[in-house]
Amino acid sequence: MLLAPACACCRRPLDRPSDGPVCEACWQTIRPITPPVCDACGDPLPSWRTISQAAAFCPRCRRRPRHVDRGRAVGEYAGALRDIIHAFKYDGRRSIGRRLSALMRDRGADVLAGADCVVPVPLHRRRRRQRGFNQAADLAAGLGLPVRTVLRRVRATPSQVALPAARRHQNVRGAFAVVWPPPWRIGPWVGRPAPLAGACVVLIDDVSTTGATLDACARALKEAGVREVRALTAARVVGRRP
Ligand SMILES: [Zn+2]
Ligand SMILES: [Zn+2]
Repeated sequence: MLLAPACACCRRPLDRPSDGPVCEACWQTIRPITPPVCDACGDPLPSWRTISQAAAFCPRCRRRPRHVDRGRAVGEYAGALRDIIHAFKYDGRRSIGRRLSALMRDRGADVLAGADCVVPVPLHRRRRRQRGFNQAADLAAGLGLPVRTVLRRVRATPSQVALPAARRHQNVRGAFAVVWPPPWRIGPWVGRPAPLAGACVVLIDDVSTTGATLDACARALKEAGVREVRALTAARVVGRRP
C-alpha cells in the first residue's frame, strides 16, 4: 500500500493530495493582520493611535519618509504561513503559489483596487537560475491585473536575512532599476512613451521584513515617473510592539 503524501506544513498525511501539497487545516490557520494597521507599511498599530486620524502611521514610518504609499500583507510571517512560503520558495512547490496568490487577491483587494498593473520584485539573475523561478512573479500572475516585469536587479546584494534592520536599507540602495522596454521584447514598444508615467502600480513580493527591498524598488519606480506605488506581500514580519 502506498503512503499518502504528507502536508508540506504540518506533515500529517493529506486527505486530498490532488488539492495541493498543503492541507486545508493549515491554510485555515492563516490569520489576517487585523486593523488598525499603519497605512504605509501595514504593521499593526495600538488602537488608541487611530481614533481621530484618517491615516495613521507607525513610529518607523513617521520617522523616515517612505517611497511605498500603501503596503499590506495577507498575514504575519509566522506559523503555517511561514511554512507554506518556505515550501513554495525553497522546495519549489509552485502550485502553492496559485493559492497564495488567490489569498493576496482577496485580502489585498483594497490595495489592488484602481491600480494599473502589478510589478514583481525581481531576483538577481544568479538567484533566479538557482531557484528556477521567481516566487514574486508567480504570485503576481494571479492577481487579475496586468503584470509588468519592468524592474531589474542591477546589483547582487548579500542576503538580507543575515543583516540587522539598520543595514538593510543601505544594502539594497540602488540595487534596482526600471528597464523599459524589457530587454527580451524589442519591437512594438520602441518609440512609445513609458507606460509607467503617471501610473499607479502595486509591487508584489513573498515576504516583507523591514520593507527595505520594497522601498528601494518603489524609489526606482518613482524616479521612472510612477505616480503611486503600493505594495502587497504574502507575509510581513511583524516586529515586537512597543
Ligand atoms: Zn497541514
Ligand atoms: Zn509603518
